[in-house]
Amino acid sequence: MNALMKKTILILGGSSEGFALAERLEANSAYHPISSLAGRTSLPRKPVGAYRTGGFGGPEGLANYIQTENISALIDATHPFAQNISSNANQAAKSVNCPIIHISRPEWQKQKGDHWIEVNSMQKAALALSPELGPAFLTIGRLELSAFLHRNDISFFCRAIEPPKQTDPKKQKISNPMREDEWPDNFNFIYAKGPFSYRDEKTLFKQHSFKAIVTKNSGGEKARAKLDVARDLNIPVIMINRPKTPDDQTVQTIDEALNWLENL
Ligand code: NAP
Repeated sequence: MNALMKKTILILGGSSEGFALAERLEANSAYHPISSLAGRTSLPRKPVGAYRTGGFGGPEGLANYIQTENISALIDATHPFAQNISSNANQAAKSVNCPIIHISRPEWQKQKGDHWIEVNSMQKAALALSPELGPAFLTIGRLELSAFLHRNDISFFCRAIEPPKQTDPKKQKISNPMREDEWPDNFNFIYAKGPFSYRDEKTLFKQHSFKAIVTKNSGGEKARAKLDVARDLNIPVIMINRPKTPDDQTVQTIDEALNWLENL
């Protein structure tokens, strides 16, 4: 197909689905995908095909980008907890009449033997930890750790892709006030990037004697082993429920999103 006849598809990414979608669309001669990454990590995985990095400047900036780049459809494949960009995408797409779909992978479901304490915010997760639940394993990334700062009565192991650091507060929901070496002694850091296997997670849980784990209900396979280990070791999980999903069209898989695209 003539390059000019290809439909340009903007993928809002930063998730496994975003990377997989870029690969699938790039392999299809009908489409020219452009992936968009927020640019949070210093060595991000690069998507297949064209990509751009950094915020658009709110819904207006995104609407402007859609028009300038002649985008035929917008696929919001951002992480289920990336709420601002999803809402911006809705507003932007509506304002310029661009078709949009959201991919939201299924949530993790509680299973027999699980001891989940479900909460609706990071602040409530911090309050849900009683002191005897330390050391607690925080698998919430590095951007929202500040919510646990007041808990000097419990020790934490915080797992993130890279160290917390002072960054532009405008680009973050909650800016971290300190670099790693400035955090109180009860905060320990582990740097690692998934996927994480059951075996490795179990070793980690035992090595540090975790008494509780705090996680967002992100869903997916890459990070679920910790829940299986917690169940097997009878460890409570403080589970942060997902924010409300957009009312607009939402699917769970990339195949469903591709079907939608083909039927436009
Ligand atoms: P957020 O709070 O929804 O977004 C904050 C701002 O960052 C947005 O308003 C937008 O800036 C910019 N932004 C976010 N995602 C973008 C993208 N894909 N392309 C261009 N700009 C983007 O998002 P977040 O929770 O900080 O997450 C940032 C990225 O990390 C997302 O792409 C998400 O898929 C990925 N991620 C998030 C989590 C999580 O737990 N939140 C976990 C894993 C991966 P402008 O308003 O200037 O356009």
